[in-house]
Formats: sequence, structure tokens, C-alpha cells
Amino acid sequence: MNRIEKYAELLIRVGINIQKDQILVISSPIEIADFTRILTVKAYEAGACEVVIRWLDEKSTKIRYDMASDGIFDEVPEWIKTFFTDYSKMNAAFLTISASDPELMKDVNPKRISRQNKAMNQALTFWRSRMMSNLNVWCVASIPTLAWAKKVFPNAGNEEAMESLWHAILKSVRVDMDNPVEAWNQHQQNLNHRTDFLNNNNFKSLHYSNKLGTDLTIDLPEGHIWFGGGDEGPNGQAFFANMPTEEVFSVPHRLGVNGKVYSSVPLNYNGNLIENFWFKFKDGLVIDFGAKNGVDVLRELLGTDEGSKRLGEVALVPHDSPISNQGILFFNTLYDENASCHLALGKAYPTCLKDGASMNLDELKKAGVNDSLIHVDFMIGTKDMEIVGLTWDGNYIQVFSKGNFVIGGKC
Ligand code: ZN
Ligand code: ZN
Repeated sequence: MNRIEKYAELLIRVGINIQKDQILVISSPIEIADFTRILTVKAYEAGACEVVIRWLDEKSTKIRYDMASDGIFDEVPEWIKTFFTDYSKMNAAFLTISASDPELMKDVNPKRISRQNKAMNQALTFWRSRMMSNLNVWCVASIPTLAWAKKVFPNAGNEEAMESLWHAILKSVRVDMDNPVEAWNQHQQNLNHRTDFLNNNNFKSLHYSNKLGTDLTIDLPEGHIWFGGGDEGPNGQAFFANMPTEEVFSVPHRLGVNGKVYSSVPLNYNGNLIENFWFKFKDGLVIDFGAKNGVDVLRELLGTDEGSKRLGEVALVPHDSPISNQGILFFNTLYDENASCHLALGKAYPTCLKDGASMNLDELKKAGVNDSLIHVDFMIGTKDMEIVGLTWDGNYIQVFSKGNFVIGGKC
């Protein structure tokens, strides 16, 4: 088996962990059709009853944004909604390949993109909440495409850029190891060690600071839970929602974020780059913000709804980790978020609160769990990040020092 087949097999058997007679829905860019066909074969070999492929062509999407009638961007046809709703009710697994050209949409009217995203997120609310509550298994992973590889390695020729991005991806997902499945087991144990530390301390709040100017306090709701690595779907089906994944994450209190936070990595948001941005929070709400580039896109993003100006995720990633040690800026959130401590604007994962998966939206809101049509991760980690946790009985415990975990250390 060559390394690309090995990767495809890892995504099917460990990422999705497809079960006998389960349907697999793959969302795939057309550029990587060859790889998606390998995934399809691996899925049938592993017992899938049917593999359904949703081909995506971002260049056609751009033409549509530029040339279609203005009225169409607020609506999503019923068949798209039906597609996702029906397959999620049929217990399908959803594999998404994320490999977009980071700057393809930079000249597109940002209002059209945000209107379309809002309409899409509204139409797919049922499907999205099922994913975020692990009622279906899902996995997001990446494959190099030429436009993406050239953005990451601008000075390399086409072939060299593709090869370099393949190398970085396969290393990040541990396919370069002799036994990738065993390597993922070991990785899971390391992540468990970190979530145990955070869950046992049951912090009331975390305080972040670094030289960029971040000075931020995040309250954590009572009953919050830290997770990392694999998840469990219906009937105990183990899966990895992200491959790679280096983060441990939980839910911030929607009303308990105060201070200022600076981004440490550009954010690729739907084909637009937002660079050197910051937010000022008061009682959980963004009350001021700025960006060196992409401020209009950022404004549209924050204006999506009430919950898009509040946080829905707090995630810790050591600066010293397999992805960040490669020193590559990926311009792809799946990769960049797993190289850096990050936060997310928008919807929180209900599963990060005790009994949250069975609560309705009002109950979740009362407990401090944010809701929104969006969930957008942005990176804040730096090599000098300091994070101190405050416990309910008033003790301060160092969580991060110089960008890395200090498991068990006290200050
Ligand atoms: Zn995350
Ligand atoms: Zn996230």
C-alpha cells in the first residue's frame, strides 16, 4: 500500500470508522477526484453499503458569486436541505475534504458570501446540530490542491509545492509512522492526560496574556467538560471529527468573556484572508474590533446574528506540537487551528456541557452555552502565551507557560 492509500484507509477506518452497512457521504473538491475514488473503494472494502459523493467546484462557485442574480443568495433550494436531512436521519457518516484556494474569493462581494452562508447555515440547522451533538459521525480532513499548495509554498514550482504540502499533511496525520493506527492510539492517551488535568481542576475561569497584547479572561460555565481527540457517535461508534487534531476544547460562558485578544495567524474565511485582527470583549460580547486586512469580511462575519459576536469554543494547543513544529502557515483552519490555541466565534458544542446534548436551546443559553448560525475558529496562540486558571475555591494554577502546557504546575 502506498502512503496515499494508507492515508485514505486511515480516514475511513479511524477518522470515520465506517460501520458495516452504513452510508458514507463525501463532500469533495473536484480537483482531488482521484483521491476521492480511493476513499470510495476503501469505504466499500470496510463495509459501507453506499458511498454518496457531493462534488464541489469552488471556481464555479466564484463565477456564481460574480454573475448570478442578486436575489438568489438569501435562499437555499429545498433539495439541498433534503439531501443533508435525509442522509443524517439514515445514520450516514459525513466525510468532508477541506482544500480551498485561500484567496479565490478575495474580489467577491463579501455581502453575497455572508448572505449565502447565512442562508445555507439556516437551511442546514437540523444537520449541523446533529453533527455538533455527535448524533452522526463526521470527519474533516485535507488533501493538497495546486492553488492551495502554491499559496503555502509560493517560491516552489508546481510539483515541488504539491509534494511539500503532501509531506506536511501526511506528517501531521502521522501517516509517516510505521503504524499510524497505533500512533493515533498513543496520541489519544496524551490528549486524555490533558483533558483529565483540566476536568479535575474544574476551572472557573482562564486568563490569557502574551506580548501581542492579549489580556483576556474567559469564564467557563458550571458543568463544562474538556474533550480532545476522538468522539463517540451513536451506538458507541468511535470517530475523529478532525484529522489532524491536536486540541483539547471546551465551552466558554457566553456572558463571561472580558478583555482584549489578538489573532496570531491569518484567518482564511471562505476564500478571504483576515489578517492581524483583534477583538475587545465585555461580558461575552465583542464591543470593538479591528484588522489590518479583511476588516469588511470580519464585520460581515460578526454581523451574522446575535451569537456571532460571542464565543462558542475555547481550545488549547501547545506551541510545541507536530503541526506547529513544521513552521508552516497553512492558510487552512483545520491545520492552523491545530497548531495554535484558538477560540471560535458563534455556536458552541452542546456536548461540552454536562447533559448539554439533551438540552433545548433555551436551557443551553441559560447555562451559558452560545448559539449562532456560524462557528468560526480563529488562532491566538503564541510561543509566549501564558494561561492561568482560577479554581472555584480561589486558587490560581498555571495552565500554559511560554506557549506550552504545564500539567500540574502551581504558581
Ligand atoms: Zn477547535
Ligand atoms: Zn471550532
